[in-house]
Amino acid sequence: MTLPHVTRAGSTPAPKLPVADHWFTVTAVDNAITVIHEPHVHPFLQANIWHIRGRQRDLLVDAGLGVAPLRPAFPHLFTDEPILVITHGHLDHMGGAHEFADCRAHQAENLQTPPPGALASAALFDELGMTEPDDEEVPELLISAIPYEHYDPETYRLRPAPVSRYLTDGDTIDLGDRQLTVLHLPGHSPGSIALYDARTQTLFSGDVVYDDQLLDDIHGADQEAYVATMARLRDLPVTVVHPGHGPSFDGTRLREIADAYIAARA
Ligand SMILES: [Zn+2]
Repeated sequence: MTLPHVTRAGSTPAPKLPVADHWFTVTAVDNAITVIHEPHVHPFLQANIWHIRGRQRDLLVDAGLGVAPLRPAFPHLFTDEPILVITHGHLDHMGGAHEFADCRAHQAENLQTPPPGALASAALFDELGMTEPDDEEVPELLISAIPYEHYDPETYRLRPAPVSRYLTDGDTIDLGDRQLTVLHLPGHSPGSIALYDARTQTLFSGDVVYDDQLLDDIHGADQEAYVATMARLRDLPVTVVHPGHGPSFDGTRLREIADAYIAARA
């Protein structure tokens, strides 16, 4: 999650939400990597879903909010059972995990009995232990459309992720032509992980690092651990970061973000 930037003037009654033509959008990054978005989700909750085509296995990094089914939306992508890695147990990353049989995550995340989540900002902020910034109002509802007729946002409940394998630091995920190393990087949450492709110096970073204000004071966050995580990231040979939120960025920007975090918190 990222801190909200959208402001709202006044408090008019919420309009009836339109039905989205498509709940997801998809963008090819290169021949193997695709990113999926949920454009009708408020920026606070709008996470990146990364799909990496491998020679033997495909990899999915995170699974979205779970408002609409992910798999049926992309039959051309989910031709085989992918390896799903959940970077951490927040609703915007694990909501669709129940659709996948090979689901992997770190044991320190609460994926089997997650809190229910909410699409209403007040309820969600309360659940996460966040206070709404004084100068930045967010809408009452964190979606601007519904996925299908008669969908009721109040019925949203985060479903457990059926974890089939726990990941620890140093584990390798082998796609045949690409190997990714699991990095356990606590701070945003206790079991936050990133996936690192050493050959291409690519980092799939989840919410460990993205190019916006990082959340380190919500339930489960640990600023001391986050400083150590940033020190580790600063020294990692990285060319490109594909984060959990927002656009990708380069290694120079990663080191700037890490240095700024350490300077602010250490
Ligand atoms: Zn998160």
